[in-house]
Amino acid sequence: MPGVPLHLPAALHAALWQHARSDPHHEVVGALGGVLHGETWFVHTLYPLPNIAPDPTREYLADPTYLLRALKAMRAESLDLVGLYHSHPRGPDRPSRTDTQLAAYDVPYLIADLRSGTLRAYLLPEAQEVALHVTDGPE
Ligand SMILES: [Zn+2]
Repeated sequence: MPGVPLHLPAALHAALWQHARSDPHHEVVGALGGVLHGETWFVHTLYPLPNIAPDPTREYLADPTYLLRALKAMRAESLDLVGLYHSHPRGPDRPSRTDTQLAAYDVPYLIADLRSGTLRAYLLPEAQEVALHVTDGPE
């Protein structure tokens, strides 16, 4: 089992799925703000971002202007980037080769697989799975 856990409040878990299902034929992307305590990531905020990939049915590219804005909003609340999520409209719940090649941040990458309804998280490029804990209420 994976050792590094990510705690995601139930309300943000729901918001992530709502975002993914709002555009079921395109990949959606977003950023997660929070804190790292020891080896555990705690998510506090979720920022949906525009997907500006040339073919959003099969890939994602977060609009850098909106990503920068989200990072600034995190800093204003003394939060850090603790995750990036995107959806796979037709699965699978694992990172694609492109996901692995383009991963630029040392935070968990969450993948919402709309086909199977599963959400999993990985550190990339190692593809080491991160244990996802959906928690009640705010952390
Ligand atoms: Zn992907």
